[in-house]
Amino acid sequence: MQKPILILGACGQIGTELTMELRARHGGENIIASDIREGSESLMANGPFELLDATNYEAIEDVIMHYEIEEVYLMAAMLSATAEKFPMRAWNLNMNSLFNVLNLAKEGKINKIFWPSSIAVFGPNTPKKNTPQNTIMEPSTVYGISKQSGERWCEYYHKKFGVDVRSIRYPGLISWKTMPGGGTTDYAVEIYHQALKEGKYQCFLSKGTQLPMMYMDDAIRATITLMDTESNNLTVRSSYNLGSMSFAPEQIAQSIQKHMPNFKVEYVPDFRQQIADSWPSSIDDSAARKDWGWKPDFDLGATTNAMLKHLSKALFN
Ligand code: NAD
Repeated sequence: MQKPILILGACGQIGTELTMELRARHGGENIIASDIREGSESLMANGPFELLDATNYEAIEDVIMHYEIEEVYLMAAMLSATAEKFPMRAWNLNMNSLFNVLNLAKEGKINKIFWPSSIAVFGPNTPKKNTPQNTIMEPSTVYGISKQSGERWCEYYHKKFGVDVRSIRYPGLISWKTMPGGGTTDYAVEIYHQALKEGKYQCFLSKGTQLPMMYMDDAIRATITLMDTESNNLTVRSSYNLGSMSFAPEQIAQSIQKHMPNFKVEYVPDFRQQIADSWPSSIDDSAARKDWGWKPDFDLGATTNAMLKHLSKALFN
């Protein structure tokens, strides 16, 4: 019998799709969504939901006891662009929520944790192309510092206390069901919305800003595959590099123009340009491929096809 799974921060860009996919696989009643706000209509309708603050240890413990939870996916966090504006709030949320779940596992109250890291753990001194799993990191953003510290703590809790925590360094994620939550790669979602609504887009990153990206279906599949992998096969307990495609804003624009030849993009970089410039342009994910058989399905062309098809239905039907 499937033991219930708790998702903290379930109403965000990734949490929404992760919750829906886990519910499709394991039954709605076994996947407990939680957040500090309510989620989409469909998420609220097809399984249990708890209003829950991921920084409140006792409140999480109550929910875990009540539902007899075995696994927790911690998706609550403050993302890169917002964290630059509220550094202490970002640090408190990103670190305290992680300590809460790590300590619950250390005390034997849950068995398995998923916690996402990010390409933001890398910094300006990191080799930019094909960034290796293990390399110079030195992140230069509030968000990246919190993610790198989180990775160190995950590995520490695994080695010292045997906590089964698993993690992926997500690249920028592209999805149509939920809007992104304040990251530096948000442009790669906004651009599809604006193409369909206005036929034009003002991009906050400059031409030539090559970043690692991934379509959401691939990210969800990777997450669930990693969680389903036999523990002994995992050689990385900080966080796995995960690659799929890399492109610059003008390349995503061109892929949209294949469907909408009159689509126009203007480039007006803001403070997010500096964050993007400190990140890798592509990722070496050979450890994920070797340890748990990672292989992406969606390239840029397939992503654009899927985004335009689903979004035009969602926006105009
Ligand atoms: P998001 O901002 O879309 O969603 C985060 C959710 O957490 C929101 O629904 C928010 O209401 C909730 N939340 C905020 N404070 C909370 C609290 N105290 N308690 C409970 N819930 C709270 O973020 P996302 O894009 O879904 O990201 C999920 C995770 O993946 C984060 O750890 C993020 O750093 C990581 N990540 C995301 C991307 C990306 O491109 N989306 C890339 C790399 C890593």
